[in-house]
Amino acid sequence: MQSIRERVEHIAAIAAGAQGVSQEAESESSKQTYDCHRCKDTGVVVLLLDLDEEVPIGDRRMWDEQFHQRAHVMKSCGCQERKRIEKLFRSSNITENFRKVGFKGFVIDGRPSCVREARDVALRYFQTFDSIRNTEHNSLTLLGQPGSGKTHLLMAVCNGLMRKGIPVQYFPWVEGFGDLKNHLDDLEERIDTMKRVDVLFIDDLFKGRRHPTDFQLEQLFNVVNFRYLNCLPMLVSSERDIDAICAIDEGMGRRIWERSYGHRVIMGLSPEERDAGMELNFSLCQPEKS
Ligand SMILES: [Zn+2]
Repeated sequence: MQSIRERVEHIAAIAAGAQGVSQEAESESSKQTYDCHRCKDTGVVVLLLDLDEEVPIGDRRMWDEQFHQRAHVMKSCGCQERKRIEKLFRSSNITENFRKVGFKGFVIDGRPSCVREARDVALRYFQTFDSIRNTEHNSLTLLGQPGSGKTHLLMAVCNGLMRKGIPVQYFPWVEGFGDLKNHLDDLEERIDTMKRVDVLFIDDLFKGRRHPTDFQLEQLFNVVNFRYLNCLPMLVSSERDIDAICAIDEGMGRRIWERSYGHRVIMGLSPEERDAGMELNFSLCQPEKS
């Protein structure tokens, strides 16, 4: 078996070879720019246990004889996790503008009680996600009037989950189907991704006055049914209430509703709020500063 020292030397040699780093050449190579200076883009650093200091692979100190006397371990550089998360965001279909949407920027003061309820349910869902994700009630559904903040809250959940390293895919009803129709060659592959991604966010389910097409119903039922049978989490928003959804496709509506047990809110005004002239609509999706 290789000793740690041998492994370090081996990797250091590869890193040096790949990047043209040698003791003589280091002054030259230090002028190179790296995405990550800690690991010089090798993805690995050496942690000196006595100093609690990270040394990049290829660092000239690694050639010193004393270096190998020190207790050290190799570890993945912090940039690897950041890259992984950045990749998750890129593959989620969530646009740059939406990536900073979070719970902090969601206004509840002076708004109808259902808005606070939806915020509380979404926040609780996010905070307990790890413990519920493999249960039968692992989905989140927010229904009701446009402009009430459904997309903002579900987006906040998505962004939070991706920061924790959990893959999410965003599927806005209208644009999503437009995109599928434009790429019929790899329809199967795209539908398969929607079936299997860790978390699927279907935004504005059945949006529009028109009845969904057979193509839309067939493809989405495929996805929802697969996720239902395999207990995979879904985040769903719709302007329609659950009766209207079930009137269009009872099987799909029932599956989404059942999986969202404990995490579903229908946004609407109470009679008192309506009498008081309160509004549910509010333009909320402002990216946070932080
Ligand atoms: Zn790095």
